[in-house]
Amino acid sequence: MRYAEVAVEAGRALERETYTYAVPAGLDVVPGHRVWVPFGRRRSLGYVTEVHTREPGREVKEIERADPEPLLLPHQVEVARAVAEHYWAPLIDCLRAMLPPRVRSGRRSTGAGPSPRQTRHSRLLEATLPAGPPEPGPELTPEQRRALETIRGGRPVLLHGVTGSGKTEVYMAAAAEVVAAGLRALVLVPEIALTPQLVERFSRRLGVPLAVLHSRLTDLERAQQWWRVRRGEVSLVIGSRSAVFAPLPRLGLICVDEEGSPAFKQDRTPRYEAGWVARRLAEATGARLVLGSATPSVTTYSEARSGLLALAELPRRVRGVPAHVELVDMGEEFRQGNRRPLSRRLAELVDGALRRGEQVILFLNRRGAATFFSCRDCGQSIECPGCSVSMVQHLELDGLSCHYCGYTRPLPVFCPTCGSRAIRGLGVGTQRLEGMVRRTWPEARVLRLDRDALRSPDAYHEIFETFAAGRADILVGTQLVARGFDLENVTTVGVVDADLPLHFPDYRSAEMAFALVTQAAGRAGRRERPARVVVQTSNPDHYSLRRARDGDYLGFYLEEIPARRAFAFPPYVQLGVLTYSHPDQERAANVAREAAERMASALVGEGIGGIRLQGPSPAFIHRLRGEYRWQITLRGERLERVRHLAPRGRGWSCDIDPVV
Ligand SMILES: [Zn+2]
Ligand SMILES: [Zn+2]
Repeated sequence: MRYAEVAVEAGRALERETYTYAVPAGLDVVPGHRVWVPFGRRRSLGYVTEVHTREPGREVKEIERADPEPLLLPHQVEVARAVAEHYWAPLIDCLRAMLPPRVRSGRRSTGAGPSPRQTRHSRLLEATLPAGPPEPGPELTPEQRRALETIRGGRPVLLHGVTGSGKTEVYMAAAAEVVAAGLRALVLVPEIALTPQLVERFSRRLGVPLAVLHSRLTDLERAQQWWRVRRGEVSLVIGSRSAVFAPLPRLGLICVDEEGSPAFKQDRTPRYEAGWVARRLAEATGARLVLGSATPSVTTYSEARSGLLALAELPRRVRGVPAHVELVDMGEEFRQGNRRPLSRRLAELVDGALRRGEQVILFLNRRGAATFFSCRDCGQSIECPGCSVSMVQHLELDGLSCHYCGYTRPLPVFCPTCGSRAIRGLGVGTQRLEGMVRRTWPEARVLRLDRDALRSPDAYHEIFETFAAGRADILVGTQLVARGFDLENVTTVGVVDADLPLHFPDYRSAEMAFALVTQAAGRAGRRERPARVVVQTSNPDHYSLRRARDGDYLGFYLEEIPARRAFAFPPYVQLGVLTYSHPDQERAANVAREAAERMASALVGEGIGGIRLQGPSPAFIHRLRGEYRWQITLRGERLERVRHLAPRGRGWSCDIDPVV
């Protein structure tokens, strides 16, 4: 008798991952098959995860029916298991995440043509059909050839290449090789980098049918693209993070561009990080793996240093000259009486650019609703003594709190570092900055690009096209602008407040500041004439800003890594966050505290070492949609060892390797 383990949809809320069913004679199922099974008094959909002959030792029900073909490929079931285990997510949720809603529900989705919406992604989809035979690319530089050689070596590769060094050429050359060998390739990029231009570039170079998968397709379009992939009709998939679950048979290459970008982290269960999944996918399929970035995450770079990843470097731009980056001390501006958010130096450069008919980008990176405090004199923020990250103000708690360990303190009156009274909350937002820019340069045409300006899915590209066509002079925006705005006429770039990422209450704040300045510098200098980047900060001596100014990633890494070790953050430990939400503030705190105590004593009781439990502390965003959120932080090695101790039920959620 054959039996199947089935992850059942109706059992999602239950603790068991799979249920055993008998496979009736004449029914042929393999892992990945969608089946219909009796479950309690109902029927339910489920997915076969294993077929075996082990006697269950009790009576089991039979599978009622199955699709003629499995929906998921065997290696996908394997990856789903890995995701479930690592991210503490129910297996059924991980399997569901691999299927577009329309495919999951079994609705027919093959017949209709393209959707009537003549929107941007229709253009994306048009670009998926090959226009002709493959076009040869430019001759690779010696560095690009060496990178390709490293990729052929078969070990997973970190491709560390500065902006403009031609990483995409390397991806395309590597993809062309595997396609020529009859295999398929997967290219993952952050959602906003997924432009028709990029898809057309791959399409022209490879001359093969390809598919595009991203969240802004309609359900129908997504299902159609998914089926083309599943049937093996395409040789290449380009997509955003969820495309890591594309059902690509005979996968030979996975490229993750802008490795470490927060865009690769899913914000709903399962809270996976596409780069992590890509690593497991490469292991499960034997595909080559390339993780590319100008600013790799410290964790990934440490893997390259320790030999887990092979390192390929593209240290030079292929075209253009590097921008000239200068740091401006805003503490000095403040002492000299300039209380405006723009330094005299930056204003002078903007004046010059506008006079010459060139374009300007001003970055202001303000994320989340959290507020931290910093000193206008010495530039220091108020930090947690145990974690060395900025503390966050919570009005409800009447003070500052560390959202990792729960340490709290009242709001200081004097700067704890230098004694100054000039302690301030957050600086300006993009909207106010836009107003100020309009008043300062009334003749200039000003655009703003931030989350608020992005009301419709196509707004990003509309703003981009307006700016690219030269119909605006100054673009004020968040880090959204930092990616993809590669424009010839941009000669002046300002990072208005580099202290915002620097003091962001996250252990990666230095990494984020380095990345922001590097990306800002990458936006300028696309042409032969040198461009200027001004980075405004009250911390001009901070290593992440100095190293970014000098384009010295390794130097930054070597200064950053001792702090990670000293304060026990990744890559030295794994981080996990368990969050409890409840509309009642007191109840939220109490439930979280009781759960933390229970879990802490279970850690001792079971003799589990090497994992620290901290908190509960107010979550980074303490109040969200009318609910108060408290969190328990776990720090240690192999957190999956304590998954069974995690509190469950309504109000709880968990996030392993969190990204804020
Ligand atoms: Zn101070
Ligand atoms: Zn702390």
